[in-house]
Amino acid sequence: MAAEALRLLVVSTPVGTLGSGKGGGVELTLASLVAGLLERGHGLTVLAASGSRLPAGCERARLWTCPGVDQPSWQHQRRDAPVQIPVNALLPRLWQRAVAEQAGFDALINLAYDWLPFWLTPQLATPLLHLVSMGSVAEATDAVIAEVARWDQRRLAFHTLTQAKDFQLPEPPVVVGNGFDLRAYAFCAAPEPLLGWVGRIAPEKGLEDAARAAALLGRRLAVWGLVEDPAYAAAVEASVSAGTIDWRGFLPTAQLQAELGRCAALLNTPKWNEAYGNVVVEAMACGVPVVAYRRGGPGELVQPGVNGQLVPPDDVPALAAAVAGAEALDRRGCRTWVERSCSRAAFAERLERWLLAALGR
Ligand code: UDP
Repeated sequence: MAAEALRLLVVSTPVGTLGSGKGGGVELTLASLVAGLLERGHGLTVLAASGSRLPAGCERARLWTCPGVDQPSWQHQRRDAPVQIPVNALLPRLWQRAVAEQAGFDALINLAYDWLPFWLTPQLATPLLHLVSMGSVAEATDAVIAEVARWDQRRLAFHTLTQAKDFQLPEPPVVVGNGFDLRAYAFCAAPEPLLGWVGRIAPEKGLEDAARAAALLGRRLAVWGLVEDPAYAAAVEASVSAGTIDWRGFLPTAQLQAELGRCAALLNTPKWNEAYGNVVVEAMACGVPVVAYRRGGPGELVQPGVNGQLVPPDDVPALAAAVAGAEALDRRGCRTWVERSCSRAAFAERLERWLLAALGR
């Protein structure tokens, strides 16, 4: 329980409705942040796109919604692209509402990697804090994040140290990791000889490498996730022999974890500096060891020999060769590592420490 209950407004991603999967890991982060801070006695309001649903565990939060057109995702543009605001855009509508309602809150929390909320930070009377959701993908956003950091770095938190290193920060970063409701993930002791891969089906996620590794091993690769880029998905399918990939679609957490838990190992192959890597922890929570590139958040989450194996980035033969070592690990050790390091309660405590320090309380 918190020493002092805070009234918090959490502004969600301007990409997709909550529950659609279009917001990627931010949807899970929001659910964990809101449920975790509610459990600690704080008052939470969520502001998100029209059609959003409050995730499980967040029922005691208030939900406000705005209509509007999605932001184009930054990771699919050139690094030097200018900031875009589409006609009837959702992003400025979310922030118009947040600015209008700010007096009713002790702090506003932004979960989106977008120029506008960072730029607004020094303009608002109510403290605006940011849990930065991505590594560096756009020069305009990176520059405004660096400006906020110079003005008052306490307003910024990051998921991992590796992610934070992408940004120009005068002080050591606040790293809050992420949190998982472990009751939602069942431990599976006896897997099938199946490899798994989970993520948005988009080039930055590097599915083609996992598919090639599975093909090298003559193993089947079950793939879960939202097809964000159908042409890319078709190219990956065509790059390996028919039947290598078993497309399972985008599933809600309850079904995803039940299927994912039956994998012998998860392959995680991002091409970008993944801010965290929710799916890595979700697999481990089910007892599934992870073979990942030594890059981004997964490079921090995977403890070689404990919950998986790390290999040099983009080295597909090394990825394939590391699978046997991962499969030999004690699956219970994967789950135990998650229980110790990534529980929702521990995440909420880290968030609360950050909030209270940023608010000078
Ligand atoms: N996810 C899901 N169902 C699926 C596949 C993925 O709910 O079938 C979720 C997964 O639980 C995770 C998110 O999608 O929370 C992906 O987050 P991650 O941090 O791995 O990557 P991002 O999409 O944010 O780049």
